Amino acid sequence: MSKIVRALSADGSVLCAAVDSTDIVNEIHRIHKTSPVASAALGRLATAGVIMGSLMKNERDLLTLRVSGGGPAGVLTVTADYKGNVRCCAGKYNVDLPPNAAGKLDVAGYVGKEGLLGVIRDTGLKEPYSAQIPLISGEIAEDITSYYATSEQIPTVCALGVLVERDWSIKAAGGYLLQLLPPVEEEKIEFIENNIKKMQSVTEMLENGMTAKEIALAGLEGLAGNILDEWEVFYKCDCSRERTSELLSSLGKDELRSLSESGENIEVCCHFCDKKYHFEPNEIKYK
Ligand SMILES: [Zn+2]
Repeated sequence: MSKIVRALSADGSVLCAAVDSTDIVNEIHRIHKTSPVASAALGRLATAGVIMGSLMKNERDLLTLRVSGGGPAGVLTVTADYKGNVRCCAGKYNVDLPPNAAGKLDVAGYVGKEGLLGVIRDTGLKEPYSAQIPLISGEIAEDITSYYATSEQIPTVCALGVLVERDWSIKAAGGYLLQLLPPVEEEKIEFIENNIKKMQSVTEMLENGMTAKEIALAGLEGLAGNILDEWEVFYKCDCSRERTSELLSSLGKDELRSLSESGENIEVCCHFCDKKYHFEPNEIKYK
């Protein structure tokens, strides 16, 4: 059971959102048959998506995170709804890389470091909010932190972690985001930096049995943090036969005609959940 928890300091100046996303990242591994480094990269980005999605306000809000770093992963995409339910995909899942200099899974090697992090927030307005920033490290958490600093000018720290077992299943995954709320009090920045220094890495905290609630409160230590709310989050794809059919009809006329005239059944596979939809040639309409 993956769970998100949001906590607020007693004076309302600092927010901490934390998630144990172990089940979600296991689901990513199950659906996409990810190698350990791909599990770590997609797991980190999806965990960021859970947290950032949960900070949106309205039922129809939709968040998309897109990372294109030029590495073997291709483009990594995560979408999240306002409850923090996520789905994700990448260009390539079965990538094996040697560990990085620190002996860890080489997420930056898989993602690439030369490229962009895109954040799109569709709140139902004519033009969705959209920002792109250059990747800082390709390790995801630093890139999300940099996004908040450059695009939103909100002092924010994001930490993410995925621990992969020898059998490639996910032992622990999670993350937290600490954010100063306006009006920003400068002295709080130092306070929070100290808290972060005292905290172990996300995977260490989870391995030591800390819950998302305890992690959220650890981020607010000394600030009399209170839990605002908590709920379950899932890997969730909202694809349907109808939507897939709409997607099919957006292909070019010539392509649709040749599909229809081929006389063969057409299989369309959802990139996010691997669900397969079948269409008969006479269901393909073209004008
Ligand atoms: Zn799907």
